[in-house]
Amino acid sequence: MTATRTPGMPFVEDGVLVSTSPATGAEAGRLPVADAAAVAAAVQRARDASAWWQSLGFDGRKARLLRWRTLLVQRIEELAALTHLETGKPVADAIVEASAAIEHTDWAARNAKRVLGHRRTRTRLLLAEHAGHVEYLPYGVVGVIGPWNYPILTPLGPTSGALMAGNTVVFKPSEYTPAVGQWLVDTFAEVVPEHPVLQAVHGLGDVGAALCRSGVDKVAFTGSTATAKKVMGACAENLIPVVLEAGGKDALIVDADADVDAAAEAAVWGSMTNSGQTCIGIERVYAVEPVYDRFVAAVVEKAGRLKLGADLGPITMPGQLDIIRRHIDDALARGGKALVGGADAVQPPGVAPTVLVDVPEDSAAVREETFGPTLTITRVADADEAVAKANAVPYGLGGAVFGKADAVRIARRLHAGMVAVNSTLSFVGMGNLPFGGVGDSGFGRIHGDDGLREFARPKAISVRRGPSPVPVMTFERSPAQISRLVKVLRLLYGRGS
Ligand code: NDP
Repeated sequence: MTATRTPGMPFVEDGVLVSTSPATGAEAGRLPVADAAAVAAAVQRARDASAWWQSLGFDGRKARLLRWRTLLVQRIEELAALTHLETGKPVADAIVEASAAIEHTDWAARNAKRVLGHRRTRTRLLLAEHAGHVEYLPYGVVGVIGPWNYPILTPLGPTSGALMAGNTVVFKPSEYTPAVGQWLVDTFAEVVPEHPVLQAVHGLGDVGAALCRSGVDKVAFTGSTATAKKVMGACAENLIPVVLEAGGKDALIVDADADVDAAAEAAVWGSMTNSGQTCIGIERVYAVEPVYDRFVAAVVEKAGRLKLGADLGPITMPGQLDIIRRHIDDALARGGKALVGGADAVQPPGVAPTVLVDVPEDSAAVREETFGPTLTITRVADADEAVAKANAVPYGLGGAVFGKADAVRIARRLHAGMVAVNSTLSFVGMGNLPFGGVGDSGFGRIHGDDGLREFARPKAISVRRGPSPVPVMTFERSPAQISRLVKVLRLLYGRGS
């Protein structure tokens, strides 16, 4: 029976989730499947642990997260090897992924007190007798639901933010990558052995759905737009707030004064790293007329050198092969040309690099998330046309611009949560930048100051320090005091701007 299984397809056997290598079919992990009662029990354990975790304060939590960060660095090869086995991605890619996760853990640990610590607000002239204070309180228990494509980085961004804000976390890894998820939880338990501050629950999509309905206080979801809508629907039943990191169709714009060779190098890496299975992967390029031919030639030369099986691993989720094939076939059938790869590119379990030109703007390869090592390149007259075309999809996750004089101005005009100028994907590796999308790519932010605030409720406290000069918030006020309020308002706000 095992011989007929598709390599990479996880399966459940006797209540155990088994993940396998998409490259070889070798077993990668074996984790017990949680039913709804087990998910609820994990959330209760997390709730019981949260008072202790909160009592450590920012400094105590920082010390624990920095120890975890160090452990992740010390065992990075072990983590990369397991990630390679379970997803098929090259070990070097897994190390680069882990490095970004380590950066975010370090950043959250070092900055949570500054961002989320108690602060006094500036006094306002109206109600000047009151002092304002803001505290950022943890939600309690945060549910983190993660995808398979970056099984280290995607959960660690929200998890490190949620933990540093004082929450405990129950994490549902993708059914394709449960072993990597459990490895992260187990290593955290080595530095925080006292209480189950970070736990994993395993299984198929229904376990994620159960987590949304389990009484968690917030859900941080990373995955497809379709599932994001289901997660939001489930959370809406109990008004559970969500942060949704969903799909993308990121564009790269090459302007007339760009370093064309650098743009081509970045376009190839941004579209083909991790075999294109990257939410912020570059899937479309808009190159302006003066540089188009040179840019295309450079991309063709660089992409043509990549080797399937060495530079590019297999497609982790076997079902994605059909989607990639459909996008390529549709592009070719509608007049597109493959300058690299093309009709024969899908070679299970992988896909060879594919560069497409002359693809109509309304085709699937330009509008839908392909999630494979494919790239469309479109000739445009100028940056205005490039921006209009880049913005003409419902997604708005990331993007990139290559150029000099106007590159940042173009970046500002892209309908996206993040844009890299003269590089691709770099924003995801910077601990101090917020990460998240607009439109069909979701909302809310992880990483950076905003990512820390995402996991805390602001609480306002006003403290009266003396008598009111204009006591109007009382039934004991007089008409004269209301008249005085009007005079004060005219004085403060009644003139010009
Ligand atoms: P999915 O949406 O299929 O799955 C994401 C997670 O949700 C998995 O753990 C999945 O479990 C779980 N899940 C499935 N059904 C439900 C449900 N009804 N309720 C709650 N949870 C559920 O995405 P993929 O794993 O296929 O990941 C690829 C997608 O993720 C791409 O669209 C990509 O763009 C996006 N992504 C977005 C990122 C971002 O930061 N914006 C980053 C990385 C990826 P199971 O696997 O067991 O089905």
